Amino acid sequence: MRLVDGKYQVQGLDLVSICEEFGTPLYVYNADKIISQIQRLKQAFQGTNMKLKYACKALTNLNILKLIKQQGVELDVVSIEEAQLGILAGYKPEEILFTPNGVAFDEIKLAVELGLTVNIDNISILEQFGHHYGNSVPCCIRINPHIVAGGNSKIQVGHIDSKFGISVHQLPHIRRVVEANKIKVIGLHMHSGSDILESEVFLRAAEVLFNATEGFEDLEFVDLGSGFKVAYREGDITTNIEELGQEMAVAFNNFCKRYGKDLELWFEPGKFLVSESGVLLTKANVIKHTPSAVFVGVDSGLNHLVRPMMYDSYHEIVNLSNPEGTKRIYNVVGYICETDTFGCDRKINEVREGDILAMKNAGAYGYSMSSNYNSRLRPPEVLIYNHEAKLIRERETLDDLVRHQVDIFSTPKTKKEKGKKEVEKVS
Ligand SMILES: *Cc1c(COP(=O)(O)O)cnc(C)c1O
Repeated sequence: MRLVDGKYQVQGLDLVSICEEFGTPLYVYNADKIISQIQRLKQAFQGTNMKLKYACKALTNLNILKLIKQQGVELDVVSIEEAQLGILAGYKPEEILFTPNGVAFDEIKLAVELGLTVNIDNISILEQFGHHYGNSVPCCIRINPHIVAGGNSKIQVGHIDSKFGISVHQLPHIRRVVEANKIKVIGLHMHSGSDILESEVFLRAAEVLFNATEGFEDLEFVDLGSGFKVAYREGDITTNIEELGQEMAVAFNNFCKRYGKDLELWFEPGKFLVSESGVLLTKANVIKHTPSAVFVGVDSGLNHLVRPMMYDSYHEIVNLSNPEGTKRIYNVVGYICETDTFGCDRKINEVREGDILAMKNAGAYGYSMSSNYNSRLRPPEVLIYNHEAKLIRERETLDDLVRHQVDIFSTPKTKKEKGKKEVEKVS
């Protein structure tokens, strides 16, 4: 999003005009930003035999999956449904790593039937996998390295109390189960949390995983998950990917020598690929002056972007309609009957009723975490691709809200009436 001649543009297209065309609220993604983020990662890790798996829970629109596939990036999914979406988008099952948590063995069996690589995250499932498949189906094992990393406690998943992965302290147990059932372990995985700042912490966790490979002789890859941080506010410190890439190349290539085989190094970025590509565009419905603050109420809320409320995340808010306006202090809030504050005490160019406000960094965990709370409809999604704004998901309608509801109180239609309906349809 760039300010050119008083207009905020993406790929030369004016965002306010896009709102006029598609209405608000509206999610808009910039394909170029996704592509450049992928290229940046590839560049940074060119010293290693690296493979990228997009963690698609961040944003699952089929067009986004296709765009990312075009760039040679494979897929990491956390549910069978995400895998099915991936396959619909054209991914081959063997390009998909299935990393679920707390699912029943039945879902694991479905994943094997689909042809996915399963990433096993507890010993009970590992045992069932071994009993069921022996050495006939290779798998990956998710290790919890117990390195504390991550922006806040809700997104730290590698600490000792975390529900994710099998503790690195339980390696002897894992090895016993693997040997007893001759399980073919082709990958070891970790994902220690979102928002890793220091490459040193990341490297330390990687070393824990490298050391854990001892005794696993069939490995083809080591998967370090994600945690690449992006800037949410101006001046935010972000992961220095280039520096991490160089240091990782040394550490990983040394490890491969020790292991005695050139393995692949996998990463699973979600947020890094799509966060900055997206904005949620909303309209200022009302300006409300109270004795303590000035509120801007917009035509969206925690139903469309829950991160500020769920994680206390900061999303920069920009008034697209009045870029030259005097900056004033606002609380920007949603229209949901619940406290749903997008931003407190924000300095924003003067907001007038009807102005378009953009919430930045809305590409990751925006639409994918949205809901119909307050019976509000989900917004459409637009992808700006080759300098064109393309609708990639329609705005929901009332039909979507009632589609799966079963009305047990309306009088059942008589056979005759039903027949009449059919006839009407045919004619
Ligand atoms: C969510 C998730 C990721 C992606 O995390 P980001 O912070 O969005 O990059 C990667 N791997 C797994 C297993 C995940 O669950």
